[in-house]
Amino acid sequence: MKVPLLDLKAQYQQIKKEIDETLIRVAESQYFIMGPELEKMEKAMAEYLECKYAIGVSSGTDALLLALMALDIQPGDEVIMPTYSFFATAGVVARLNAVPVFADSDPVTFNIDPADIEKRITPKTKAIIPVHLYGQSADMDPIMAIAKKHNLFVVEDGAQAIGVQYKDGKKVGNFGDIGCFSFFPSKNLGCFGDGGLVTTNNDDLAKKLTIKRVHGGQPKYYHKVIGGNFRLDALQAAVLGVKLPHLDSWSAKRRENAALYTELFTSAGLAAGEGVTVFDDKNKVLLPAAVYKSDSVKNYHIYNQYIIRVEKRNALRDFLLAKGVGVEIYYPVPFHRQECFSYLKYNMNDYPVADCCANDSLALPIYPELTTEQITYVVESIAEFVRTSDHLPLECNHCDCMKK
Ligand SMILES: *Cc1c(COP(=O)(O)O)cnc(C)c1O
Repeated sequence: MKVPLLDLKAQYQQIKKEIDETLIRVAESQYFIMGPELEKMEKAMAEYLECKYAIGVSSGTDALLLALMALDIQPGDEVIMPTYSFFATAGVVARLNAVPVFADSDPVTFNIDPADIEKRITPKTKAIIPVHLYGQSADMDPIMAIAKKHNLFVVEDGAQAIGVQYKDGKKVGNFGDIGCFSFFPSKNLGCFGDGGLVTTNNDDLAKKLTIKRVHGGQPKYYHKVIGGNFRLDALQAAVLGVKLPHLDSWSAKRRENAALYTELFTSAGLAAGEGVTVFDDKNKVLLPAAVYKSDSVKNYHIYNQYIIRVEKRNALRDFLLAKGVGVEIYYPVPFHRQECFSYLKYNMNDYPVADCCANDSLALPIYPELTTEQITYVVESIAEFVRTSDHLPLECNHCDCMKK
């Protein structure tokens, strides 16, 4: 059986007629930059995300870059972020000649550990970028309390978490000064290429974001400030307009798929239980949990990725790929170990949880159109691996968790 990690064609088939009509409508209009399609999409996004302003931009990466530019982050300013995330989170900070400061992660949610943020604050710290990784919110209550106490900006990286609610129900993108989203095709809401969005509830920031999106010209050709070309195409906006009404049902399907994984792993005797962080039984699978260790309130997890943690991760990956199951390692190298950040001279022993996650996590297929048979096949394949892999060596070499 073939179980791809992602199957975008399956989604396109459901909405093909509407999408095709929309593409033709934009082609016939020959109106490609800004304009009514974008305005319509931005209005719908603001309504959906329950924020005052939603501004379409060229990508999730550019959303982050534009946000930092709007907040006037300067060379030498320090910006705290998780060391375990997609590269863009750190890349944008370094590109402004600001200093990326890395914090360790929470082993259950994979999100930034708020306690570790506070330890890394200095007089130069200007902002925090919590990432809502894999589709669940970072722990925003303590993060916002730290930001308030130290007078720091908060830019939420919600690239993997559009429509996600933090435990009290408020949607991500509404906690910090600016929220950033991506419409890269593999996100829960993807366009037909690159695209992104910034959100804010602050009038002044909305104005800055809007002006800097078009090179900082206000009026056009008169520049008090420097911006960039951070525009979103009309074509992408129109595609997103068609897809947005389906987003919640697609995310609900991902949640159902996750629940089925939990059920099947549990009945196969492989589940190590929710929120478990240590491999006390090396034949078990640590399942993703939508809960923080500080309390037991559930998050609304939309599973942009379904990440398990396993002993012998690389061997399992090879085994599953050979069986036709698409899997991926997100992210094998945390920022503090990236060659391009060696100039920052971070201590390699300072991030034990992130190192562990990088070494033992594996993404399984979770996209909405997966069938019960496919999910069953994935779990059965993992069960087969566990039965037959006793002779294989342990893999983790950065931390102690495997040795317990
Ligand atoms: C995808 C992603 C981005 C970047 O988005 P692009 O649209 O690909 O530029 C940023 N941060 C995180 C956490 C992401 O997953």
